[in-house]
Amino acid sequence: MEIFRREAELNDKPVKPGGGAVICWMQSVQRAHDNHALEYAVENANRLNLPVIVLFILDPAYPAANLRHYTFMLQGIADTAKELENRGIAFFTAIGPPVETVVRVAKSLDAAMLVTDRGYLRHLRRWRKEAAAVLKIRMIEVDTNCVIPCTAFTKEEYAAYTMRKKYNRLLPDYLVPLKTHKPVKTFSQDPMREFNPYDIDGTLKILKIDRSVPPSAVYKGGPVEARKLLDTFLDGGLRDYAVEHGNAAINSGSRLSPYLHYGHISPLRIALEVDESGTGRENVGAFLEQLLVRRELSINFTWHNENYDMPSGWPEWGRLTLDGHRKDPRPMIYLRERLEAGETGDPVWDAAQKELLASGRIHNYPRMIWAKKLLEWTKSPEEAWETAVWLNDRYALDGRDPNGFTGIAWCIGGKHDRPWPERPIFGKIRYMSTGRAGSHFNVKGYINRVNDLCTAAGIQGIDTV
Ligand SMILES: Cc1cc2nc3c(=O)[nH]c(=O)nc-3n(C[C@H](O)[C@H](O)[C@H](O)COP(=O)(O)OP(=O)(O)OC[C@H]3O[C@@H](n4cnc5c(N)ncnc54)[C@H](O)[C@@H]3O)c2cc1C
Repeated sequence: MEIFRREAELNDKPVKPGGGAVICWMQSVQRAHDNHALEYAVENANRLNLPVIVLFILDPAYPAANLRHYTFMLQGIADTAKELENRGIAFFTAIGPPVETVVRVAKSLDAAMLVTDRGYLRHLRRWRKEAAAVLKIRMIEVDTNCVIPCTAFTKEEYAAYTMRKKYNRLLPDYLVPLKTHKPVKTFSQDPMREFNPYDIDGTLKILKIDRSVPPSAVYKGGPVEARKLLDTFLDGGLRDYAVEHGNAAINSGSRLSPYLHYGHISPLRIALEVDESGTGRENVGAFLEQLLVRRELSINFTWHNENYDMPSGWPEWGRLTLDGHRKDPRPMIYLRERLEAGETGDPVWDAAQKELLASGRIHNYPRMIWAKKLLEWTKSPEEAWETAVWLNDRYALDGRDPNGFTGIAWCIGGKHDRPWPERPIFGKIRYMSTGRAGSHFNVKGYINRVNDLCTAAGIQGIDTV
């Protein structure tokens, strides 16, 4: 069977003979284990008899990032710094615009080659492309945030059913543990540190960033936390995942999406351990469908469709049907501020929004209804879309991710879905509503759970009658 490579050459420049090091620019995948890009860098450094240096660049102007996101990310960087230290790999930290900074550090180290991970969104791809053009050395990117490299799917898939068969056929070749390589040469000087990876508060203080969203009151970032959550899930939630994964009242699911977003945990590691857990196939299959097919379908969308973050990325039938219902009267139009505060008076919607405000997550089931409701409460499908993306990216720890763009496009624009019986406002877009939430989960239990999160975050909860 054809094996698609994880590595791609981003330029055709030479590996510099006599260079000082191999740099692994850790950008989208922030972990020191189960990281194909890092292992590829170590292997090449060993072959060239050079030290490998991991470089992490903190960009204070990262799109839509705020204090909540930077805190979660830096909690992960502290874990990663420690683990790299234990592996004897030098960890450089820098602050600045990514392209300029990576070029500056590569020059100062007289690097022989540069390896990086793959990012699937427009700005991440542009950074890599620009760096590869400016650098005078070979630059390679390695796909380590997908179990099957996204380039194995050469066109945009229409829906999960068009991807699943090929995905499952290829999977056995990729569901294999990654070997760890020991670096043969260590970097003998002090590593460059433009911020101290262990001093999270100190770093946050010096950064000029948007501080309008506080850190999550519930979730701490980092590979260590991710590992704990995976263990908890393997010992509990996975066992009834097929039946319970829509149960927002018990916060079912692995809760790993923020950690996957920052690369604090590898999807391959999760898939391997779930597969080998001895849990029944029904639960394992239901979970792997989400982690593998659905997640990598989202990546396929952002990788192949340059309009992934705009309504023109929706399927034609979705755009046409919404257009046909543009003038339908809306039951209510809410100002963005009211929505943002979770003060619409609809207890399920407000609970979802408050879950997001307090914890940085919305459980998947209320998340679908939350986005769908915006179609009814804003002036147009475009405004519904913009509002959902804005709230999701601003507050969700897993936001600004292929899954976010895809999940919202599914809810509002029919992406990866099919036409349903026509009705007002939605047209043929699948209808879901807060009023019907009770047939999917215990609403009172959900609101109680969200109110506990609100107490932890020090924000007003939902009144229960
Ligand atoms: C409106 C809307 C917005 C969304 N925004 C995001 C987002 O910004 N970031 C994000 O990661 N997910 C997003 N999702 C998908 C889904 O809500 C989350 O991935 C899931 O709730 C995360 O919880 P979990 O880690 O416990 O998932 P689990 O049920 O434990 O699933 C394991 C993993 O599978 C993947 N997964 C689960 N459900 C989906 C799905 N429907 N589509 C694609 N992948 C999935 C995630 O990576 C998840 O961590 C969105 C969905 C909707 C409807």
